[in-house]
Amino acid sequence: MNSTFSDFCHNIGLSEASAVQIQKASRQRTVGDTDEGSRIHSFCIAAQLSLGSEKVDVPPSQTCIAEPGCIVLPHTSNDVSKIMKIINFFDVKFAIRSGGHSPNPGWSSIGSEGVLLDMQKMNHVSLSSDNLVATVGPGARWGEVIAAISPRRVAVVGGRIPIVGVAGLLLGGGYSYLTGEFGTAADSVKNYEVVLADGSIVHANGDENSDLFWALKGGGPNFGVITRFDLFTVSISDVWYEIMLYTPDQAFHVLDAFAQWQQDKDFDIKSSVTLSIGLDIITVALLYSTPTDPPSCFKPFYAVQPAQVAVPSTNGTSAQVYEMAYGVVSSEPMRHHVAANVADFGRSRGGNPMGIPQRAHQWWTTLADWREAKDDELVRSVTIETTQQWKKLGIQRGSYLPFTFMNDASRDQNPLASYGADNLSKLKVISRKYDPSQLLQRLQVGGFLLLRA
Ligand SMILES: Cc1cc2nc3c(=O)[nH]c(=O)nc-3n(C[C@H](O)[C@H](O)[C@H](O)COP(=O)(O)OP(=O)(O)OC[C@H]3O[C@@H](n4cnc5c(N)ncnc54)[C@H](O)[C@@H]3O)c2cc1C
Repeated sequence: MNSTFSDFCHNIGLSEASAVQIQKASRQRTVGDTDEGSRIHSFCIAAQLSLGSEKVDVPPSQTCIAEPGCIVLPHTSNDVSKIMKIINFFDVKFAIRSGGHSPNPGWSSIGSEGVLLDMQKMNHVSLSSDNLVATVGPGARWGEVIAAISPRRVAVVGGRIPIVGVAGLLLGGGYSYLTGEFGTAADSVKNYEVVLADGSIVHANGDENSDLFWALKGGGPNFGVITRFDLFTVSISDVWYEIMLYTPDQAFHVLDAFAQWQQDKDFDIKSSVTLSIGLDIITVALLYSTPTDPPSCFKPFYAVQPAQVAVPSTNGTSAQVYEMAYGVVSSEPMRHHVAANVADFGRSRGGNPMGIPQRAHQWWTTLADWREAKDDELVRSVTIETTQQWKKLGIQRGSYLPFTFMNDASRDQNPLASYGADNLSKLKVISRKYDPSQLLQRLQVGGFLLLRA
């Protein structure tokens, strides 16, 4: 046994007997008989011996292209640290999955060419005794977070749908019902616990590794595996809401109402509107972050007669809003209002790399559902063309802004480049500082990587 291999085994807590077992196993069997397959097999054996076999799932069939070599389910940041050391040693490709909600193929999934780090077991949620900070594991879902903290009458700036994962949303910036009032979800992070590419565990916050702290607030999966988020809470518990449905022929009137609400010179930051325009129905979900009578800022919407009031004017809890959210935030094209103060809020929290325009504007998303796999390319080409058409119109009218929101971006888009040349080059410098061997760029299969930005 050479000394590098025995040092490595020692480093991940393996006995000499286990080291011999890894060597034997890798000689006996290879996946697909390739060098890559052999390294993946060795990774899986080493991970089983180091973490315990209950944390490493080896799919029975390795002929199915959608199955990773193995799925590692860490329970602690120490587990993740060992996993990164084993990835380093065997040089295997990998993907990280927290909530698994990215619709981009390969962003949080991988086939037999690598291994999957599935963070679902790291889903703890706790609240500090003064209720000011929520500590959340990357594998938690936003519904679990709200359910755990809302009994103590606080909320966090997080996702709008209960099943979406915490980590992916926060790493992409994060748009919330509360963004108008409290900025992006990433701006509410007080501290990140990060396992770097070499397996070291660090914290990133305003005082410690502050460059990494800045980079993580929208910089995607480029800097390490996040194993814990400490989030500032907001004291919001009771809210007002109402949901109205309109018919597609009312689209222009509803869009005018949206523009009037958004452009009001006294824009009310407590208000938020989730607007989705589908082929069959237009959904307008109004939310106000404190109990009230129907707020006057929503008058432009009341001026358009709805086909149906799906949920009447209600004073309820933020937890109830999450329970309803499934039905409301539909898979239809959506618009997000971004108030002028969102960029300022980010700056007041130490800044972020996103370069969000400092003026009221909108982020829009085109979503398409289809039934048959044979239509994949056709549907994809239509969504790409639609995006190009929006861009062309925006440029013609002088209203186009290049910023692309990572969480809604498609794999053919380049959100990191849209953050601006200075921010992009700063992100690259930070990536080389915390990952000198650029392992995350080289071995991570998907995600909005700096290498491709
Ligand atoms: C139904 C639906 C509703 C949505 N609503 C919103 C919304 O209200 N607001 C909003 O901002 N976005 C929203 N999104 C977009 C969503 O935020 C992104 O898809 C996000 O990536 C999902 O997070 P996840 O943890 O589920 O992602 P995953 O698919 O698990 O991961 C996404 C990316 O993050 C990386 N990653 C995951 N975990 C880690 C980790 N621990 N460390 C490092 N990298 C990691 C992955 O490698 C991958 O590149 C929605 C998406 C869907 C499908």
